[in-house]
Amino acid sequence: MSFDLVLFGGTGDLAWRKLMPALFQAFRHGSLPEGGRIIGVARDDLTDDQYRELIGSRFNAVEGAKRPSPEEFKRFAALLHYLPMDLSQPQDYQRLAQMLKQRDADSLVMYLATAPSLFTQTVQQIAAAGLNGPKTRLVLEKPLGHNLASNRAINHAVAEVLEERQIFRIDHYLGKPSVQNLFAMRFGNALFEPLWRREYIASIEITIAEEVGVEKRGGFYDQTGAMRDMVQNHALQLLCAVAMEPPINAHADALRDEKLKVLRALKPWTPETLGLHAVRGQYVAGTAYGERVAGYLDEPGIDPASRTETFVALRAEIANWRWAGVPFYIRTGKRLASRDARIEVNFRPTPHAIFRAPAGFANKLVINLQPKDGLELHLVAQSQSQRVSTQGGVRAGMAPLAPVQLNLDFDQRFGSERVGAYERLLLDVIEGRLNLFVRSDEQEEAWRWVEPLLESWQTDNGPRPYAAGTWGPSASSAMIARDGNAWSEEH
Ligand code: NAP
Repeated sequence: MSFDLVLFGGTGDLAWRKLMPALFQAFRHGSLPEGGRIIGVARDDLTDDQYRELIGSRFNAVEGAKRPSPEEFKRFAALLHYLPMDLSQPQDYQRLAQMLKQRDADSLVMYLATAPSLFTQTVQQIAAAGLNGPKTRLVLEKPLGHNLASNRAINHAVAEVLEERQIFRIDHYLGKPSVQNLFAMRFGNALFEPLWRREYIASIEITIAEEVGVEKRGGFYDQTGAMRDMVQNHALQLLCAVAMEPPINAHADALRDEKLKVLRALKPWTPETLGLHAVRGQYVAGTAYGERVAGYLDEPGIDPASRTETFVALRAEIANWRWAGVPFYIRTGKRLASRDARIEVNFRPTPHAIFRAPAGFANKLVINLQPKDGLELHLVAQSQSQRVSTQGGVRAGMAPLAPVQLNLDFDQRFGSERVGAYERLLLDVIEGRLNLFVRSDEQEEAWRWVEPLLESWQTDNGPRPYAAGTWGPSASSAMIARDGNAWSEEH
């Protein structure tokens, strides 16, 4: 199958940090269909060879084993082409159309790796140049809009020229192997599903913690914030994956229908819950990677009076039969104590204790997303100690129980067969698989849920400060402590 993949924004940060390395890995694994072209598009006046050189020089920054050898890069570079275009200029699309029509590939992928402000006009001009035929697939990066209205405007503009089955809204968390394994674990095994409900699960915690600050993307981040950058998309998609009902089959719309139902069932915000169940923060100077680091307001590109949140903690509830009353805690932020993304499913304690289990023990399933990738099941087992205790003069007769863990390390089990998130998703687009992409109605529902929070933050006292290198403002711990719970690292 031949393909043309047009990378609008082919010289940008996303293209060289994520997309090119992922395409190269697919090429190396032999999974990139043969006969493809990857066409970078941006305003710089480059030739194909200059573009290949530029991408080649970027690959030198790629970590060890993922870096191509000179010979491998030479073969990969043969797929790379470049077309200078100003996306705001309608006449430039004709040159693109000519280049693509010479070949008429089986699959035409248009990847919009540019600022979202260019999305609407790019899509309209793609159609005006006749490039919106049935073979076209359009990939849209987050953040898709700034609020519900702007998200709808982009979705509407895209729907005018392409069918929903041609639109691939990327959320790279869905491409992570552990998230796919969450689906496999829940719906491919009989073991967990009967327990996956309010009767057996006490709470669910979703953490997406970054140790980095805003790095070189301060200007972008200050306009975006943690809620739009992480919660509206990644965290809510993870929540859907963990809370959805079993779909009737593995087809894209069956999965997406079930995710949509979860989003629709999220309890709407009330004036009371806006105050009690949402905490936002902004980091001040502290430490990261063992060194002193600046506070958010002193980072390059940040407005010194910025009220943008770099941390969010929420308590959500899903109002349906399966989950009524179970708190879902979501937490994300920059400059936190470590880089750590995971979902923790906390089971209820045994109904009647006959053993002496460690204080506060309950079973827990941890789905590690990064940097580790795998599952941990926390259990208790009989410890080997022979000591018995005397309680009220009666010998209890049993040694105490000790915590043990079943660890499934997917990296160890599947090793080099593992496929990274962007690699998986790019191959899915080229081959037309929509399962791991977000439908417009899901996205709009997620915006609808977060919007009251964003609005309430416009008039409140601003984000709470937290020192870089900590787990966010203390109000986040207080929020969850009101339920008698604690974040996992506080146990
Ligand atoms: P970036 O580094 O600023 O790159 C933007 C790219 O678009 C450059 O190649 C730029 O090249 C090109 N461009 C800008 N205006 C253009 C125009 N009028 N005509 C043609 N090309 C134009 O941005 P980025 O960080 O890669 O982000 C791209 C998109 O991905 C954004 O929507 C962002 O939110 C999203 N995203 C980025 C990341 C990330 O890690 N970087 C992660 C997730 C999502 P010229 O200026 O030379 O034309």
